[in-house]
Amino acid sequence: MARYVGPACRLCRREGLKLFLKGERCYTEKCAVERRNYIPGQHGQARHGKVSEYGRQLREKQKVKRIYGIQEKQFRGYYEKASSAKGVTGELLLAFLERRLDNVVYRLGFATSRAEARLLVRHGHVLLNGKACDIPSLIARAGDEVKVRDKSKEIARIVEAVEAVDRRGVPAWLTLDRKGLSGKILTLPTRGDITMPIEERLIVELYSK
Ligand code: SF4
Repeated sequence: MARYVGPACRLCRREGLKLFLKGERCYTEKCAVERRNYIPGQHGQARHGKVSEYGRQLREKQKVKRIYGIQEKQFRGYYEKASSAKGVTGELLLAFLERRLDNVVYRLGFATSRAEARLLVRHGHVLLNGKACDIPSLIARAGDEVKVRDKSKEIARIVEAVEAVDRRGVPAWLTLDRKGLSGKILTLPTRGDITMPIEERLIVELYSK
């Protein structure tokens, strides 16, 4: 499936929730969910009937894929990995998504959105344990160090992003050295660390049918 390249705000409006896909704009009154909180399209403001259980499961999956910017095949792969590991599948699935390198870069505040974080990684601005790593989907481990490479530390977008990180805060499973533009994964994220309103149970039900 091709990557979605349409307006990001449309995705938030479809889910009826702020997915924080556009960086700083998401925190302003320009946010489309704040201004037009109804489903996009011609019939968006029409009354919608009761959603079936299957419909709810599908929407939940779409929502999480959109939050993390992941396509179906890769998402399914994370689910398979989570379901074959020891533990609660839904929680493990979310933990894998959180540990993606692009998400860690975003959570540390080096980028204002996951899309921007993905580009930073792809363009080689990020070091993992001191070595260049341009794979946004890489799953980071406890103890890993994620750092902006020295040559990229002056990039205005990165500097501004770190300055603005307090608005959302750095999660407790990470530690950030603002001056050094580096961060460390202290522990693996748990369900409690993920504050987005996600019902992962629905996704597990959908895939295990
Ligand atoms: Fe979603 Fe951000 Fe657009 Fe608001 S501004 S609708 S949170 S992408």
